[in-house]
Amino acid sequence: MTIHDASGPRLAELAATLDAQFEKLDLAGRLSLASGLGRAVFTTSLGMEDQVIAAAIGLGRLDIEVVTLDTGRLFAETLALIDGTEARFGIAIRRFHPDRADVDAYAVQYGLNGFYESVEARHACCHVRKLKPLARALDGAAVWVTGLRRSQSGNRAATPFVEYDAERALLKVNPLADWSLERIEAYVEEQAVPTNPLHRRGYPSIGCEPCTRAIKPGEPERAGRWWWENDEKRECGLHVPDAAVPSLSSSSL
Ligand code: SF4
Repeated sequence: MTIHDASGPRLAELAATLDAQFEKLDLAGRLSLASGLGRAVFTTSLGMEDQVIAAAIGLGRLDIEVVTLDTGRLFAETLALIDGTEARFGIAIRRFHPDRADVDAYAVQYGLNGFYESVEARHACCHVRKLKPLARALDGAAVWVTGLRRSQSGNRAATPFVEYDAERALLKVNPLADWSLERIEAYVEEQAVPTNPLHRRGYPSIGCEPCTRAIKPGEPERAGRWWWENDEKRECGLHVPDAAVPSLSSSSL
């Protein structure tokens, strides 16, 4: 039986079984197990965690597709790192871009930088520039690999190793769920993993340029993301149900 043939309850059961197995495996073992479940896609934002996973995939020559969402608003340093990572680990990172018509419709409805005006406008931008390209990137995938860690934020504190993503009908695999930032940094050092130079300028978490600032000493890792919003649990919608995120009005798409 493949994952594509399995029902939702069966996949949820499988996720629970795998979650217990992952606990006992190292990173290479977790990724190897994930790659054997069916077509696996790793989405990287080029953050330090994602660089660790890209390194493990490249060094282990694992059969996991590597993709990134090029929103059109990324830092120049992030774009350069895509090329550098491909060269360092001999992997191809497939870029997924937002649809031009969606971007234009967003600008008409909210303004190019309308995301500063309201949470709804911000979620609508993330929907166009991230969520819709993500849906294309994961189309037909059995497994979605991410770099989520429990200690990144309170919102991610309960991240399992493996979960059933009912919305996308696939298994979501988070092989670094139990890794600390210190462990990530040690791996980066040991394997000479290229990282974004912005990390050394106070950006532990890096997203789109207009929506990311450096953090102050003592602030949580993700405090620089959408810093103007008050919600402590703010996310872009990639890792929360899409139904919780408003999109552009249908008339504008
Ligand atoms: S992070 Fe900012 S610029 Fe990037 S997609 Fe979301 S709202 Fe738009």
